[in-house]
Amino acid sequence: MNDPDRSPWICHYCGYTSSTTESRACDQCYKITCSAHLQRSMRLNKNSGLYEITTICAECALEELL
Ligand SMILES: [Zn+2]
Ligand SMILES: [Zn+2]
Repeated sequence: MNDPDRSPWICHYCGYTSSTTESRACDQCYKITCSAHLQRSMRLNKNSGLYEITTICAECALEELL
């Protein structure tokens, strides 16, 4: 489970860094974000006309509220 080649990632939002957990990216801006700053969101897919669940960062979530 311990991969020495795994490089540490850093949350673009809060600066949290880790090399022991898997990095996750925001579905919208594709920036690496820690689990504390990722949240699920419903988005309308304009191509299919259906709502889909995406994982977005706190920064993108704020923009959606505006
Ligand atoms: Zn964070
Ligand atoms: Zn984002």
